Amino acid sequence: MNIPEIKGRKVQQSEQIRFKCQRCSACCKHVHEVVPAEALDIFRMAKFLKRTDPSITSCDDVADRYLEPVPIDESGFCILMLKSVGEDDRCIFLDGNRCRIQSAKPRACRTYPLAIDPENGRLEYFLCTERTHHYSGPQIKVRSWVRKTMNDEDKAFVIEDPECSVRIARLLRQIPKQQFSRALLLFLHYRYSDYDLEQPFMPQYRRKNEQLLAVLQKMIGGN
Ligand code: SF4
Repeated sequence: MNIPEIKGRKVQQSEQIRFKCQRCSACCKHVHEVVPAEALDIFRMAKFLKRTDPSITSCDDVADRYLEPVPIDESGFCILMLKSVGEDDRCIFLDGNRCRIQSAKPRACRTYPLAIDPENGRLEYFLCTERTHHYSGPQIKVRSWVRKTMNDEDKAFVIEDPECSVRIARLLRQIPKQQFSRALLLFLHYRYSDYDLEQPFMPQYRRKNEQLLAVLQKMIGGN
């Protein structure tokens, strides 16, 4: 599966990097199909937004209003990205220079300037290098930044999700053409919909992925 490549320099946990958010919002502009919203991100956004917006009651409401699907390979496997708006393709959540969902922003925004990628069950860290004006200010240790921006739930998700995604993409590739649209709808439903926002995320995520794998397997007539 062709997951968008992380651009940046690999860094070790013990390394120090210079970084200070300049509150310039440059990272939140020109982000058409750039900022991924993973299932865990959407779950958290829904919980956060429903506190102040009565029209948001579920992950589906968040997806309908703020996200768009972007196919990433010929299997039909797609990921959801934050919508962008305006001539400068700014993030739909950017309000002036402020993020409207600061405490529930997606992992990609939280860990910036680090991008995190799992490799053989371990996390690897990459320093994004595209906006060099950010790299001044105090030294921060990679390890401390990761601790500050990712909790155990994030780490479990980051390790498990790619592995599961590969299994799903493999099955999607085998779905007969005439059943493909239905498979895609089921894929979106099981991956992103129908979460109980009052219950913990990971058990629901695991159960729904197993259900999706079983349904896809049945559609291709496999064992
Ligand atoms: S969610 Fe917030 S931090 Fe992330 S791109 Fe949008 S405005 Fe910026």
